[in-house]
Amino acid sequence: TLSSSSAASDVYKRQERNISLYTINAVDIAKEIGLGGRTNMIMQSAFFKLADIIPGEEAMKYMKDSIKKTYGKKGDKVVNMNNLALDKGVEALTKVEIPASWKNAVDESKETANVPDFIKNILIPMTNQQGDKLPVSAFKGAEDGTFPMGTSKFEKRGIAVDVPEWQIDNCIQCNQCSYVCPHAAIRPYLLNAEEVKNAPAGFTSKKAIGKGFEDFNFRIQVDVLDCAGCGNCAQVCPSKEKALVMKPIATQMNETANWDYALTLSGKEIPMSKETIKGSQFEEPLLEFSGACAGCGETPYAKLVTQLFGDRMMVANATGCSSIWGGSAPSTPYTTNRNGQGPAWANSLFEDNAEYGLGMYLGVKQIRNKIADLAGELLEADVSSEVKEALKFWLDNIVNAKETKKASSLLIAALEKVKASNDRVNYLVQEILDRKDFLVKKSQWIFGGDGWAYDIGYGGLDHVLASGEDVNVLVFDTEVYSNTGGQSSKSTPTGAVAQFAASGKPIKKKDLGMMAMSYGYVYVAQVAMGANQNQLLKALAEAESYPGPSLVIAYAPCINHGLNLGMGCTQLESKRAVEAGYWHLYRHDPRLKDEGKNPFVLDSKAPVAPFKDFILSEVRYSSLTRLFPERAEKLFEMAENNAKDRLETYERLAKG
Ligand code: SF4
Ligand code: SF4
Ligand code: MG
Repeated sequence: TLSSSSAASDVYKRQERNISLYTINAVDIAKEIGLGGRTNMIMQSAFFKLADIIPGEEAMKYMKDSIKKTYGKKGDKVVNMNNLALDKGVEALTKVEIPASWKNAVDESKETANVPDFIKNILIPMTNQQGDKLPVSAFKGAEDGTFPMGTSKFEKRGIAVDVPEWQIDNCIQCNQCSYVCPHAAIRPYLLNAEEVKNAPAGFTSKKAIGKGFEDFNFRIQVDVLDCAGCGNCAQVCPSKEKALVMKPIATQMNETANWDYALTLSGKEIPMSKETIKGSQFEEPLLEFSGACAGCGETPYAKLVTQLFGDRMMVANATGCSSIWGGSAPSTPYTTNRNGQGPAWANSLFEDNAEYGLGMYLGVKQIRNKIADLAGELLEADVSSEVKEALKFWLDNIVNAKETKKASSLLIAALEKVKASNDRVNYLVQEILDRKDFLVKKSQWIFGGDGWAYDIGYGGLDHVLASGEDVNVLVFDTEVYSNTGGQSSKSTPTGAVAQFAASGKPIKKKDLGMMAMSYGYVYVAQVAMGANQNQLLKALAEAESYPGPSLVIAYAPCINHGLNLGMGCTQLESKRAVEAGYWHLYRHDPRLKDEGKNPFVLDSKAPVAPFKDFILSEVRYSSLTRLFPERAEKLFEMAENNAKDRLETYERLAKG
């Protein structure tokens, strides 16, 4: 098959080498025979047919035996469906005859004039697998390793089979679809009267609802070429008559013009707090169109953080999935808002990322302390009352996140007007203006997965949390090393099958949150977006505003879990995890202690669904029952008891 458009131009070279080309419409076959989006059996038999590593009939026998072993317990229907998939995988292969004339074909040059130089000179050659041929001089401007932001939007991949179609009449304008989208490919827009008038024909909108929204129309816009087709948006849509329906992408291509128009809409003062589910989604996501898996449980968290704090945010990112979807050269999904502000992001190693983030924070703190010294001296000098007021306002609000943006722009405006005859005054003004990027209080984040936070980077993480400094740690907890190959981490719970725990992990999951809480001065929260969207927002806002170290541990369903429901239900899966008492939601805010209150709040309710039903709906657990049934029973019992013990501990804490 052709795996990318760049491969297309290589086809004629293959012709020279007499390579055969086959295609197979596995997507349609899987749908027809009832396998939904699961094409793996079809592709597997197609592969063995073409690869000819073992005789075809023998290969088929092995595959059918393995299906019987894997799915036997699920009944004949499932077994037959998978067997049929194997047969179809062989039958439906279509040979593509490559015309002999392709030997002499040459690449047509595509019009790339309207894209930035970086895209033309670096991104396009690299994505066409021609990066090795780039001369050093092509990297002018990126010599220090700094790549421009927001380049993922130039890779329109169009990988979705089905994309959501908005049903305008059914929409209740809750913005939850946008909240959960891992790829920022579905967004709410507000239009003023002028924008409604100028909209292209298919760009329908309806009166916006809510106090303060009277002057606006509302529209949900899907970005079909960046959508990964996971279906989570449609799954969470709470409208009784579903307001999002998944449709084949070919039927939705008219939406690309609508998307382009949506991007031209003006920025608006949103009449509601951005610390609400609906309000947060009117903020521009500053993480978009990453290469994360369809339905990724991690990216919606990071995207939300950028919507809340992205314009003044710095991120130290540990190695792992989050560093891969966060920035795979040459593509950068972190981007800037309409004022050109966005997260400054860099990746460090598994073993030192927390320290790396602390270093960023301390560096900025040092620069801001220096500005405060300069500002203090300038305040005593012979300057206008406007400058003095601006200096005082900035100094009074130096760590006040809400006021710091206003204070900084007032100060810059006042200082830029200073024309003093006094050398010292000019010097002080210039020294402050040279550091103007640091006038706004930064929001320092440290991102990483459980492999980093629980294991390899734990020593550093512990040190950073203990430092008492104002940094925010977000752990995407997939309970396994997702990117490096599915190895067990200290976050992997008892009974889960992973690399290095092939017979189910025999020991307990580490309680990272409790360890951090033992310091007393660390803000700690455990969250799960799909289970409680509000609690997540509260936790992020509290963590960021807490003037000391914060740790937010976020449950993130992952392809490594093998969800029976599929990756289109990752939001639902984290809801199920909480309902089964598998994962718990809480917030521990040391500020409450100062107010004489219990700092610990348990946000999740007592389990309402059977623990075992939940774990057995994920292959990481259910596979153990097939491999080692007796051991599985024992380990699953232990896993359930461990989860109960955790809950008891949290309940005790909540009682105070
Ligand atoms: Fe986003 Fe998935 Fe919906 Fe596409 S299908 S818009 S990627 S949530
Ligand atoms: Fe509309 Fe459904 Fe999106 Fe809510 S989740 S804004 S009802 S489409
Ligand atoms: Mg992980």
